Amino acid sequence: MGRQYNNHLFFLAMKKVFLIISLILCLNFIQDFSPQSKNITEKFFPEINVEINTPAFKKEKGFTNYNELIVFINQLQKKYPDIVSIKHIGESQKGKSVPLVILNKKSDTKKLKVFFQGGLHGDEMASSEGVLFIMDKLLNDTAYSYLLNKLEIAIIPIANIDGYEVQDRYAANGLDLNRDQTKLMIKESVFLKQTFSDFNPHVAIDFHEYRPFRKEFSQLSSYGITSYYDAMFMTSGNLNVPEKIRDYTKNVFVKNAENVLNSFGITTREYLTSDKVMGDIHFNQGSNNARSSATSFALANTISTLVEIRGVGLGRTSFKRRVFSVFSIGISYLKTAVENMNEVDELLKSKFNTNNLAIVTSKKEKSVEPLKVIDLETEKEINIDVTIFNASKSTADLTRSKPFAYIIKNNQQSIIAKLKVLGVIVNELEADKELEVESYLVNDYSVDDEKNEGVYQQKVKTITSIEKKLFLKGSYIVYMNQENCGLAIETLEPEAPNGFISFGILTTKQNNKLPIYRYLKNEKL
Ligand SMILES: [Zn+2]
Repeated sequence: MGRQYNNHLFFLAMKKVFLIISLILCLNFIQDFSPQSKNITEKFFPEINVEINTPAFKKEKGFTNYNELIVFINQLQKKYPDIVSIKHIGESQKGKSVPLVILNKKSDTKKLKVFFQGGLHGDEMASSEGVLFIMDKLLNDTAYSYLLNKLEIAIIPIANIDGYEVQDRYAANGLDLNRDQTKLMIKESVFLKQTFSDFNPHVAIDFHEYRPFRKEFSQLSSYGITSYYDAMFMTSGNLNVPEKIRDYTKNVFVKNAENVLNSFGITTREYLTSDKVMGDIHFNQGSNNARSSATSFALANTISTLVEIRGVGLGRTSFKRRVFSVFSIGISYLKTAVENMNEVDELLKSKFNTNNLAIVTSKKEKSVEPLKVIDLETEKEINIDVTIFNASKSTADLTRSKPFAYIIKNNQQSIIAKLKVLGVIVNELEADKELEVESYLVNDYSVDDEKNEGVYQQKVKTITSIEKKLFLKGSYIVYMNQENCGLAIETLEPEAPNGFISFGILTTKQNNKLPIYRYLKNEKL
């Protein structure tokens, strides 16, 4: 009996060992597998001859792991204690501490603040490796260290640590951190956004990688196509972001970075992604969604860009090229910031959203344009005509006057907490007060019957009317003459596609009045 029992235990242990070994082999295979032919790699994406001293390049396979990351940043901190500080900004769902690295050299001169983030999606490995390379060069190479005289730089190397550890796009609960920047339902989103709001940067880049071999690409050309561009730049087309900031981001920051990359033969383009809509492939250019970082950061009065490097699913293919691209873009942004310090400071100080319209919804321009891609049969670049919906050329659809303030009932603590994380300043009414306000009545309502990104989305139409209403002490006031007022519009207007009502954070019904009001008088409360 005893012996049999022991045998059984031995068998179970062996089974476990076998499972673990196959899992490791499998993971190794996944991370090294690339669907790309050698020909295409050599012709279009040859490795770049550059020395990179980050942990992934000290080994043949795999990427920098969590422990190597911690050792790497701790070493920098030990070597440069006067410049480098490390803050642990929160714990991932699986209990891993997420570090923020701040590079701040003591100086009496005014500095611009720059924020870099990598690894918000856990399978975009060059984004994290790239920001580690930026840190290394800024600290260890005198050709770059002068940039620290004029800049304070905050870097989150791996925003989604749980996803990164298993090379999965999503957070541990299966939700997408870059669709959660207004609803703030994911644990990580809250501390990542709070960190961003507290730092309040002038310039920000969220580094990503994109998937160049997509299912829907197989129906294009005879044997399918793959993407052509090494790097794509997404800046916000959101109309609540002042036009001057949108233009400056594109015409100065993006342009300079593209010039640098192109000088190394690295190809660039404005961001474009595809989508299958009832059998047709639609391409979306740019973005205006506040739920994603590019627009969310821009609405916080920041020169903001989301960078996409061609890399998801490629394992270590062209990995140096990809990491070097991240590095070159980051350094170019830092140089552009230093070279245009006063202009950037002025632009952001004086130009925050003074538009007297709140843009609630907008329409993207639709056009058919040629797109350069790589044909998989001939392995040559070709142009194909595609339908593009361009968020960078949006026009306003539903607009309302921008109120002097939004007033929110004092029982709405959960949306107030989210507004504060977004960096929106919220005041409170000091005594009961009767006020003339505009109220919203829901006159058209539907709700999805399936969850999307963790929520049942609501679609509403409202009519507004003027009424006198008694507001209790402690009611919340969001004045609109503040930097992040665009984020208040995007979250509080009921029809806004990424708002609290659309995302079901604030539930409602047909014929309900909303607990949000518009105060139009130009007078402090
Ligand atoms: Zn991504």
